[in-house]
Amino acid sequence: MTPEPSTGEGQGELEGEGGVDVDTLPAGSFSEWLGQMQAAIRGEAESDVPCGECTACCTASQFIHIGPDELDAKAHIPAALLFPAPRMPKGHVLMGYDEHGRCPMLIEGRCSIYAHRPRTCRTYDCRVFAAAGLEPDEADKALIAERVRRWRFSHPSPQDEAAHDAVRAVAVELIARPDALPLGIRPDNTTQIAVLAVERTTAVPPPTPPSGQTDPATDR
Ligand code: SF4
Repeated sequence: MTPEPSTGEGQGELEGEGGVDVDTLPAGSFSEWLGQMQAAIRGEAESDVPCGECTACCTASQFIHIGPDELDAKAHIPAALLFPAPRMPKGHVLMGYDEHGRCPMLIEGRCSIYAHRPRTCRTYDCRVFAAAGLEPDEADKALIAERVRRWRFSHPSPQDEAAHDAVRAVAVELIARPDALPLGIRPDNTTQIAVLAVERTTAVPPPTPPSGQTDPATDR
């Protein structure tokens, strides 16, 4: 959730569904992104999403969770916009959205508390859907789904290909066998499945090419 000015660099075109051209967006090298995203999920880093002018996630009827330790974010959000987070310990709060699904801190298309935004916003990265081969399916997340269709990871090495295949395989498994997980961490929407697939994918060795051959680098 980082509405920042767009450079327009690196965009391309690809034929989408129904023969309509869509602008593609470079999502970066897959392995590099996966490492950064997993660190963000662990709370060790922020996500670094090239949002450009996109504010889809700030306008998608999302409740923003703010933890008890996020004093700076809380100090920059009017108390009237915060309420206790259901089923969470004291001190965890949520910020809601307006009648159009917009975060109340989004003003004139920009985050008005960008330097002080909550951790939820700092770690959100809609590329998790592209990584897991999924799209958000809720009607109020249509703009995020549009963005997700445009991301294209690069796979400069067999390691990138193997890691991307592994994330998608974990997502397929999570969808097929949700009961395999304990109730507390069982995902109940597509966003949670995508994040969990990224989080649970462990390092995967690249496939061994047949002797005398090398695998070409590919994009998808
Ligand atoms: S605080 Fe609101 S406007 Fe700012 S990044 Fe988060 S969701 Fe977007």
